[in-house]
Amino acid sequence: MSFKRIGVIGSGQLGRMLALAGTPLDVEFVFYDEARVSPSCNLGKCIFPSEQGSFEQFADSVDVITYESENTNLELVRKLNQIKPVYPGEASLSKSQHRLTEKNTFRDLGLNTANFLRVASKEDLLDAAKQLGLPIVLKTTTMGYDGKGQAVVKTEDDINGAWELLGAHELIAESFVNFSRELSVIAVRDIKGNTKVYPISENDHEAGILRISRVPAKALSPEKQKQAQDYITTMLNHLEHVGVLTLELFDCDNGLVVNEMAPRVHNSGHWSMEGSHCGQFENHVRAISGMPLGDTSPKQESAAMINIIGKTGDRDSVLSTPNAHLHLYGKEERLNRKLGHINLLGNSHAEVELAIKKLGAFIKECG
Ligand code: AMP
Repeated sequence: MSFKRIGVIGSGQLGRMLALAGTPLDVEFVFYDEARVSPSCNLGKCIFPSEQGSFEQFADSVDVITYESENTNLELVRKLNQIKPVYPGEASLSKSQHRLTEKNTFRDLGLNTANFLRVASKEDLLDAAKQLGLPIVLKTTTMGYDGKGQAVVKTEDDINGAWELLGAHELIAESFVNFSRELSVIAVRDIKGNTKVYPISENDHEAGILRISRVPAKALSPEKQKQAQDYITTMLNHLEHVGVLTLELFDCDNGLVVNEMAPRVHNSGHWSMEGSHCGQFENHVRAISGMPLGDTSPKQESAAMINIIGKTGDRDSVLSTPNAHLHLYGKEERLNRKLGHINLLGNSHAEVELAIKKLGAFIKECG
């Protein structure tokens, strides 16, 4: 069994890169999105949700459905799933939409997380500050991304401000994790339950937005590598996940701590497009359409991904850098907007670091 037509809810760069990876496998794409000008629209058919009967039309025109974002409307996914299979399934989507449900799932399955408490009132917040000990990170349980919808409460003086900022929402308070760096592990599971894991990536953020991912994460102990692989395999199997799944991790002295998951291809996995034998986009397409999974191992010793944010910058300097691969998403320049990325490959960490340095001016210009 192999599905030939994939429907994607959303039409941003992730949908675009899915279509770019799936087209050589003779898979066709239909995008379901409001945006009439979007990174994906010239790579497949578009159906607009505002038009009557559109979701049935969308479902009827494809064999299987996937989505770009963990914030995809769950009700819509349930309705579509009555007509055609939606992967990843409802468990993966609903759990990643709610930080409290997500963290409870991690804890129930024995994955290390920061200590956390639900906060529904200012009294709860005062109580959480006492029980967890300051500093704490206060987050909205839904719709947070790239550090939005959260505040760090360092001292008791910050409590009122944090409550004023976020108190209108349901919240989770987490103890502050003293990590040395942020990592992510990405893996894929197919319809039959086979899994494959990508090398672990080390991620640098600026102002809450991912700037650079380096793969494999340098000097990560075999114990921590195994911990990350075990964690993601546990999650994939527990959720009966089909497609790519990402876990964001904190690297701490005594082991890894899970922060959150994304039921989708992830920005920190973009390096795999040229950097591994089968990139995350192709593997997601293969998994959801019933094809065998591809090899997730890296092609070279070292790889990196630099996000192009806000301004497109000097394209030609990227194109003249050996082993650099430019991906632009066809989006208008705007402050803090992800417009594209550069993948760098090398035979050593040092070689890739040199290439990152050479593109330093470019990175600055675009930031
Ligand atoms: P999130 O929205 O959960 O991905 O958080 C955004 C960023 O805030 C993370 O990438 C971390 O840098 C930081 N952060 C989130 N939770 C914690 C925590 N419990 N302790 C320390 N830093 C955190």
